[in-house]
Amino acid sequence: MNSTNISTFLKTISKADTDALRARLTGEVILPGDVAYDGARITSVLNFDHRPAVIVRPRTTSDVAESVRFARANGLPLAIKSGGHSIAGHSVNDDGLVIDLAQFKQVTIDPARRTARVQPAVTSGELAGPAHAYGLALTTGDAASVGIGGLTLGGGIGFMVRKHGLTIDNLISVELVTAEGEVIRASKDQHSELFWALRGGGGNFGVVTEFEFQLAPVGQVYGGALILPATVENVRKYVDYATAAPDELTTITNIMLAPPAPFIPEERIGETVMMILAVYTGDMEEGARVMQPLRDIAEPIADLVGPMPYPVIYDFTEPSTHPHFNHIRSMFSHGISDAAIERVLELMGRATSPMSMAQLRPLGGAFGRVPAEETAFAHRDKDFFFAALGLWADPEDDRVNRAAHQAWTEELWAAVKSERDGVYVNFVANEGRARIGEAYPADTYARLAWVKGQYDLENVFAGNQNVRPLARQEEKAA
Ligand SMILES: Cc1cc2nc3c(=O)[nH]c(=O)nc-3n(C[C@H](O)[C@H](O)[C@H](O)COP(=O)(O)OP(=O)(O)OC[C@H]3O[C@@H](n4cnc5c(N)ncnc54)[C@H](O)[C@@H]3O)c2cc1C
Repeated sequence: MNSTNISTFLKTISKADTDALRARLTGEVILPGDVAYDGARITSVLNFDHRPAVIVRPRTTSDVAESVRFARANGLPLAIKSGGHSIAGHSVNDDGLVIDLAQFKQVTIDPARRTARVQPAVTSGELAGPAHAYGLALTTGDAASVGIGGLTLGGGIGFMVRKHGLTIDNLISVELVTAEGEVIRASKDQHSELFWALRGGGGNFGVVTEFEFQLAPVGQVYGGALILPATVENVRKYVDYATAAPDELTTITNIMLAPPAPFIPEERIGETVMMILAVYTGDMEEGARVMQPLRDIAEPIADLVGPMPYPVIYDFTEPSTHPHFNHIRSMFSHGISDAAIERVLELMGRATSPMSMAQLRPLGGAFGRVPAEETAFAHRDKDFFFAALGLWADPEDDRVNRAAHQAWTEELWAAVKSERDGVYVNFVANEGRARIGEAYPADTYARLAWVKGQYDLENVFAGNQNVRPLARQEEKAA
């Protein structure tokens, strides 16, 4: 049964039903009209205004299992919310049941084994601090507020991707509540095909209630923000160097309008710049040496790069943690042409929102050395990620200018999209089935569909970039 079928069979849930659910849970049940309802249905991405029939805030894994069984018994579509940053609006649904994991916030670090048990609503920022206390870190995403739940299940491209791979490359095991409401653990040795699928296949296979990660010994890093004038020549030099640099250096670069920040000279505010966010893990002097070619590209507008504790990198992306509206298009590629860079710079010069940006992430290194078939994230041969990020935050601006911001982003996307080769599932918006096909090459998709058939044949977990289950009779016929 797919999500369309489920909604066909929607039953009206009664107060007696929800009272019975409440009696079985230690967590909260929030209904339309409750004081907590509006706060619980709004997410970090403001584009969406979904109104679920029931929001459950479980406290325990058995609450999660109970909620899954209740949704099934009542024909309610399910949505799973960890950090609430879904670009496609999948964290919350209309007329269904949302499992809001807001209470799943525990981090337990084992310094001797250098491992962490992390519950799914823990954010990148909330993990970085406690891990740093032991001189350890996990490579996650670029914004402190993003939930480990959604980020990990899609892959996790972060500030140490070239040195330590994706977040999933550091995943040891997960605890998961299945569509049947069973609690299982998946790892390389237990439910190994499921473990393969969970590493890139998104929320298709169950509700993850705990991740176990291997941490890396990372304390001080040589990092921060280097802001350079954005010209075609400068961007070209940056891309070429950052893609070939030692694995220890990962950069994420935003081509943007210089913000009114204390470190930007007043006369340069609004100029199109490259904000290179850099993290070098290793010896500090060597870090300075490896950074030097970036500093040599042009006279920096601001140079805030130096030795710092790893979690401080999140200070530089703090603006992106605030709730905002967005229109996002993105791709993997094998680089970016000068013609595309030229067009991107021209479009940035007439951006409709001062928050909007083009984001460049050179990949390679450890990310590229994992065999494509080892996880459900197959794009290991891609050495570049690009995102056209239309961003705005003011509701009045949204009311008046949403269409203009979207059109500008589409123009930016049109400037680069012919160079694409795949897409990162966590950056796919509501773009239709073809884009899910770009996220998962045919072999990967077929294997995901098989695993989905084994663990969620009725597609209970359909509120996501959905992999349709391979029915068991199709499997026999194949
Ligand atoms: C500002 C911003 C910055 C970002 N930066 C990065 C980045 O640097 N690197 C990167 O890789 N990605 C990045 N992303 C994308 C991000 O990884 C995805 O949006 C991700 O899905 C968010 O996870 P979440 O838990 O916060 O979101 P949620 O909306 O809570 O979850 C998204 C989806 O993931 C699934 N899911 C979440 N938790 C669970 C669970 N416990 N069990 C089963 N399924 C679950 C569900 O399908 C859910 O709908 C960014 C997104 C934003 C908005």
